[in-house]
Amino acid sequence: MANIENDLKSKNVLVTGGAGFIGSNLCDKLISLGAAVICLDNFFTGKKDNISHLIGQENFVLKEGDVNQPEFLEKIFDEYNIDYVFHYAAVLGVKRVTENPLLVLPDLDGIRHLLRIAQAKKVKKIVFASSSEAYGFSTALPLKEDDGQELIANQSNHAHLYALIKLIGEKIMKTYNDHYGLPTVSLRFFNVFGPRQESSAYGFVVGVFIKQILDGQPPTIYGDGYQTRDFIYIDDNVRLAIQALLEEKTNGEVINIGVGRQTTIVDLAERLLRLSGQDLRPVFIKDRSYEIKYRSPDVTKMRRLLGDGIADNLDDNLKKTYEWYRKNMFKQKA
Ligand code: UDP
Repeated sequence: MANIENDLKSKNVLVTGGAGFIGSNLCDKLISLGAAVICLDNFFTGKKDNISHLIGQENFVLKEGDVNQPEFLEKIFDEYNIDYVFHYAAVLGVKRVTENPLLVLPDLDGIRHLLRIAQAKKVKKIVFASSSEAYGFSTALPLKEDDGQELIANQSNHAHLYALIKLIGEKIMKTYNDHYGLPTVSLRFFNVFGPRQESSAYGFVVGVFIKQILDGQPPTIYGDGYQTRDFIYIDDNVRLAIQALLEEKTNGEVINIGVGRQTTIVDLAERLLRLSGQDLRPVFIKDRSYEIKYRSPDVTKMRRLLGDGIADNLDDNLKKTYEWYRKNMFKQKA
């Protein structure tokens, strides 16, 4: 196994989307491991607050711009000798991409130009953030990377254009890995949660529920609440992504990144209410029309390639997340 404590010392690591929820937590970890981080973000969904503590640090550079613009990317690669890339910049959020599906198309330009430039500059490896959305409405649980369940294999399984872009991205990554001498790995992230995640109406369920509870409002559950997701804490997601970067045997692979445990949304709401100590009951509202009912990854491949997997301590991690929002929401109001 690669040693993530040592192998990144003095390496130049480019993180696209580095001011986002996952990207900024990744930047923190990379810096703590001795890497120099070049963080790119256009602040469409990324936030300055997520990285303000890093600005001015010796090993951190922020470049504001759009990763889908080739001139911007070329300049970065000319200025810095990039060893590794985490390509995390993308349009995201079910509500946002459903309201405006074409928003995701320019993300293909970013993928295209990044690979072309990275290959020319002899980058050592790229980690591409894909998504569990790649499985679309597949019901063959647990969702497995290599058995053709992806929506592209089935035209009637059409979740979002977003998912198609991720699948095309994975395919391009693999092509460069197999035929053009540029190591890559694609990671299908299941539902990540933790500090800094968006909690607005465009946000994600853990942040949304916590914000509602902190505002004294009941969590709003879509449908019957028996839909399931696999919730992985941000620190685990970040650690596994770095492991995937450093592990040579991941080259050319697509890997699910999750805990391997289904949680219903009702259960999630109850856990959060319990730890908040608030006397509230969830309310049930109309289903989302684009709801995926069950989602659960097969994590056999992740365990084989990246080590033992993840300690399953959902309640502790929800508590840490809740505390973070509590402190930060009060800070914002002060
Ligand atoms: N969800 C909910 N109420 C909300 C937000 C989300 O019940 O206010 C549910 C949603 O129906 C889905 C799950 O939480 O089953 C995760 O939603 P999210 O948008 O966070 O991520 P998704 O997995 O759908 O991309």
